[in-house]
Amino acid sequence: MGTNTRNPTVTFYGNFGSSYSQRFARNHLQRIIQEFVKPGKLNLEFRHLSENPDSPSSGYLWSNVADERYMAEVVQTTWHYEPENFWSFFQYMMENPPSGGSFTNSDARAALEAAGVRNYVRIPNEANRGWFTHHVEHTTETAKIDDIPSIPRLVIRGEHLSGNDGDVLDWLESHVSSWNEPIHMGSSADGSSSGSDDSGPQLSRSEWTIMDGTRYETPVYEIDSGEPGPTGFVVGGQHGIEPAGWEAAHNLRDMTPKSGKLVVIPEADRTAIRANTYSGDGGNLNRQWPSGSRPSSPLARAIWNEIEAQDPDVILDLHSSQGIYGGSPSGVGQAIFPTPNARSGANEVIDELNERHVRPAGYSGDHLFSRGNDQTGANPLLSHKIGGDTDALGFLFETTRSGVPLETRIDWTTVASVKMLRRGGLVLE
Ligand SMILES: [Zn+2]
Repeated sequence: MGTNTRNPTVTFYGNFGSSYSQRFARNHLQRIIQEFVKPGKLNLEFRHLSENPDSPSSGYLWSNVADERYMAEVVQTTWHYEPENFWSFFQYMMENPPSGGSFTNSDARAALEAAGVRNYVRIPNEANRGWFTHHVEHTTETAKIDDIPSIPRLVIRGEHLSGNDGDVLDWLESHVSSWNEPIHMGSSADGSSSGSDDSGPQLSRSEWTIMDGTRYETPVYEIDSGEPGPTGFVVGGQHGIEPAGWEAAHNLRDMTPKSGKLVVIPEADRTAIRANTYSGDGGNLNRQWPSGSRPSSPLARAIWNEIEAQDPDVILDLHSSQGIYGGSPSGVGQAIFPTPNARSGANEVIDELNERHVRPAGYSGDHLFSRGNDQTGANPLLSHKIGGDTDALGFLFETTRSGVPLETRIDWTTVASVKMLRRGGLVLE
């Protein structure tokens, strides 16, 4: 429901037989449709979850195995044959839920007919044949990946909320507004044809490589708005076991600066990424950046040459950690380590990130982001070298792998990057 691929999609996990799902549909769903889906701010997707994602073979959510499975098959079959009447069927089922734990062929036929579905005879029969079983199983797998503990549950880009939380509309609003502010993600396939309308003067996207012909060869991406303005520089992938950083960096290069330009090296040490190891063939890349002298490896020097050539106003280095800065397990995650001139910017980003993204995803306590120590040049880290040797705002960003799924880490890293770049004046849309 809702078809604008540039909009965020909220997924509603529910089950027609669940009274909690019915309550959510009654209390919140119509308002979500009126306030978000119809005005074109949000797409809505329904996933009828029938099995317990943690133990699909044993746990069913509503009924005995046979009828539960059958109802899920009817849902998938209806979506396949008559997507245009699916939502009418959905509404009918939520208002007239199956009772007594049973859902038979004749129950399905009666419900489909009452909902105005044309193939009300064919769909219940075909649902028996199991042609859409893999869709049912796929929904269970997706729920497991999304880490769904119960239904009803709403999910946007890896963050979720119980559908019967009172502030579900506020939560959606914060997602929609933070999305509309800076981010259009993953829509380049259809967005590329829009270059002719309002994308402004001579936007250019270029790509070249550094360390050519070596095992360290890696691309540099430049997205130049064609308008004079600030330059942002983003480095990801110094460490090969921290995919959130390079995935977020790749997300950023799909965006467009309002003015100025963005330069991204998503995969700084490809030898580490390929090997899936923390350090690469040349050792720990993030210990090769002494302040006041040349970087100590050819790869670090090649990256630093790019940074110097661009003379950025703001530079990000994106990482993740096994632990949590000042928390448990101990580590450096869930923290932003700024150069001294970026301290107040880091505080603002941290507040926004916690309120709009971390708390709404159900995290609190140690998982809230905090500010790390200043990056001054005291240690041979890239962020320290930025603090010691340049005037740019520098941010070392660390999320944690402890208790946070990859999708969520990527999401946090992406939205935080947009906010940090904005502190340097670079606005991405
Ligand atoms: Zn790292």
